[in-house]
Order: sequence, then C-alpha cells, then structure tokens
Amino acid sequence: PQPTGEFEELEADSLILALGQETDTGFLRNVEGLEIESDGTLIVDKNLMTGYAGLFAGGDMVPSERTVTIGVGHGKKAARCIDTWLRGEPHTRAPKHELASFDKLHVWYFTDSAQRFQGHIDLKDRQTSFDEVVDGLKRQDVLYEARRCLSCGNCFQCDGCYGACPDDAVIKHSDEEVAGIERETGEHRRYAFNYDRCTGCAVCFEQCPCHAIEMVREP
Ligand SMILES: Cc1cc2nc3c(=O)[nH]c(=O)nc-3n(C[C@H](O)[C@H](O)[C@H](O)COP(=O)(O)OP(=O)(O)OC[C@H]3O[C@@H](n4cnc5c(N)ncnc54)[C@H](O)[C@@H]3O)c2cc1C
Ligand code: SF4
Ligand code: SF4
Repeated sequence: PQPTGEFEELEADSLILALGQETDTGFLRNVEGLEIESDGTLIVDKNLMTGYAGLFAGGDMVPSERTVTIGVGHGKKAARCIDTWLRGEPHTRAPKHELASFDKLHVWYFTDSAQRFQGHIDLKDRQTSFDEVVDGLKRQDVLYEARRCLSCGNCFQCDGCYGACPDDAVIKHSDEEVAGIERETGEHRRYAFNYDRCTGCAVCFEQCPCHAIEMVREP
C-alpha cells in the first residue's frame, strides 16, 4: 500500500486487532521444562512433544513453515504421537515410500476433471474497496478439488488389486485389523499379500492406478 497522507476517522464500538503473525505463548512461560524461542514458538522433539512431558505442540506454534498444509500435517502426526504416548508405547514412524512419479501412474483410471476456477475482483475494484480479491472456493468445490487428487504412491483403497488378483492372494483387513496394525507398526494398511498364493503375475501391480504396489524379486 502507498500512503496518501490522508486520514479518515471511523466510529466504532470496539476495535479488535485481527491481523498478526506472532505466536502468543506468554501464558505458557511459567510451565516447567518448556523451551520458548524469542519469536514465541515452542521447541518440540521429533514427536512434537515439548519439554514438558505430555504437552504437544504443532503448526504456527513451533519453529516450522507457517502454512495450513504444515499445520494440518502436524495435527495428524501429533494425534498419533499422543496416542502412543498415552499407551506408554514408543512411537514408530512408518517408512516413506519412493516417489511415485507421474509416468508410473495409470491415469486412465481417473476421469478428466478440470480445476475449479476461483473468481477475482477486477483491478479497479481492488483499489476502491476492502472486498476479498480472490473469491476462494465454496465447500462443494473444495471437496471436488480434493477428489481430483491422484494419490501418487498412496493406496486409496479402490479394491482394484483385491478384485483383480486371479489367485486370491490379496487379503483385505477389517477396520479392527487395520487399527491393530496401525497401533503396532504406525502404518495404515488395508491390504496384505499372501505370498504362499501369489504367483508373481503382476496383475495387481499393473492395474494399480496410483503405483502403490511394487514388484520385488523373491530373496
Ligand atoms: C494474513 C495471513 C494469510 C495467510 N495465508 C496463507 C495461505 O494462503 N496459505 C497457507 O497455507 N497459509 C497461510 N497463512 C498461514 C496459516 O494461516 C497458518 O499457518 C495456519 O493457520 C496455522 O494453523 P494453526 O492451527 O497452527 O494456528 P491458528 O490457525 O492460528 O490456530 C490457533 C488457534 O488457537 C487459538 N488460541 C490462541 N491462543 C489461545 C489460548 N490461549 N487459548 C485457547 N485458544 C487459543 C486462536 O484463536 C486460534 O483459533 C496465512 C496467515 C496469515 C496471518
Ligand atoms: S494398492 Fe492400488 S489397486 Fe490396490 S486398493 Fe490400493 S490403490 Fe487400489
Ligand atoms: S502378483 Fe498376481 S498373484 Fe500376486 S498378488 Fe498380485 S495379482 Fe495376485
């Protein structure tokens, strides 16, 4: 914004300062064991736990990139870490798989769906109003955009491999079994392979839309 030198008085009942980028952790200063950075963020370990046992933090409150994606990711990770901490178990992190690049996806599986357009107000209106410049997306558009995700390398439980295997070698776990596996290994696994039945035909691998299956040689 360019200052114009002009001032205007507006009447108001109360004024709320609603724009800020700093984390206000003043109310935590007396908590024993907490390490607080000069910008107010809390130091956490790799499980997002602060220096006070059982107190977890994430998002803008910890030194990290300040974006919604990071904040949401921290929330998910912290929930898992809190769960294992309450159970008195060590937190096991699921191993990361290799990048599933675009050429490895079977995009024929997905329907063509164009990106939703976010409206913008024109330049002139931007200079003369406080209206939002970018409209953003409506709830149904956000859900639609989320469904356009190609889930690269991550099983999205389409049941394709389960239905395609000619030898019934793909096992589908129940919700209870999935929860048990997740508690034990930190991995969310809906499917497993019965290697006594599997012939290595690769039908499951070839039809998986998002390259969530790897073929590896038997030892
Ligand atoms: C102007 C602006 C534009 C941005 N644009 C983008 C963008 O385009 N894309 C993007 O990814 N990120 C953007 N960000 C960053 C993004 O908004 C933040 O990274 C994200 O909201 C952080 O989420 P959070 O849950 O950690 O914290 P917040 O969303 O800040 O949530 C913290 C909540 O805790 C509440 N709270 C605070 N103190 C207390 C207390 N003592 N007791 C109880 N509750 C309390 C607050 O009221 C708030 O509701 C923007 C940020 C700003 C300021
Ligand atoms: S591994 Fe692939 S084919 Fe099997 S359910 Fe998951 S996404 Fe579908
Ligand atoms: S490689 Fe063939 S037999 Fe083995 S699980 Fe996949 S589809 Fe079934």
